[in-house]
Amino acid sequence: MPASVTTPKRPRTKLEKQARLDQILAILDQVFPNVTCALYHSNPWELLVATILSAQCTDERVNMVTPGLFAKYPAIEDFAVATPEALGKDVYSTGFYNNKAKNIIAAAKRILKEYKGQIPNTIEALLTIPGAARKTANVVLGTAFGIASGVVVDTHVSRISQRLDLTRETDPVKIERDLVKLLPQSRWIQFSHQLIHHGRGHCTARSPKCHSCPLNSICYAKDKNA
Ligand code: SF4
Repeated sequence: MPASVTTPKRPRTKLEKQARLDQILAILDQVFPNVTCALYHSNPWELLVATILSAQCTDERVNMVTPGLFAKYPAIEDFAVATPEALGKDVYSTGFYNNKAKNIIAAAKRILKEYKGQIPNTIEALLTIPGAARKTANVVLGTAFGIASGVVVDTHVSRISQRLDLTRETDPVKIERDLVKLLPQSRWIQFSHQLIHHGRGHCTARSPKCHSCPLNSICYAKDKNA
């Protein structure tokens, strides 16, 4: 950390840690009062498709692809009868297009067969859908159904939770385990959205803009910038 960076005192006691966490949450609420998922969608199925496409891809890129995609395949049945080659071409620019196309087609078939075309609204059922790991399942449950099943841990949430010392883990499943212990369940959905927005604005992977960060006074990240 550069010498000119102010390093706040680390909290030591349980009370100090709780007070710092409360402060972090209050600041996030103040800066990001009404943030939500940035992926374009108009129903739970579209959100599931968009979230599968967002793996290793930016939301901006996915949002360039999905309006045309959902116009070409308006219903889940249309995806179920698509060929991986044709769908792969349509989602090519999101990367890993072969796997994504196969997963989306398999997801559509499974949802039609097992769930009468309705997206299931439990984490256990969603985890059986091809292409839906914990992150995808939490996104769909949180954003489409308002169900706080866990904390969405993407690259922004991982990085910022580590920088804010809310976890020392690097594996997303373990980070989520730490965050659900730390945060009240009523905060699980919103917290992820807030960190994702903070990660796109101030707390970027490279050269975070710490000088103007609202969390600066309580952040003691090793890679803080002046
Ligand atoms: S931008 Fe800097 S000060 Fe703000 S949370 Fe990230 S590392 Fe900490």
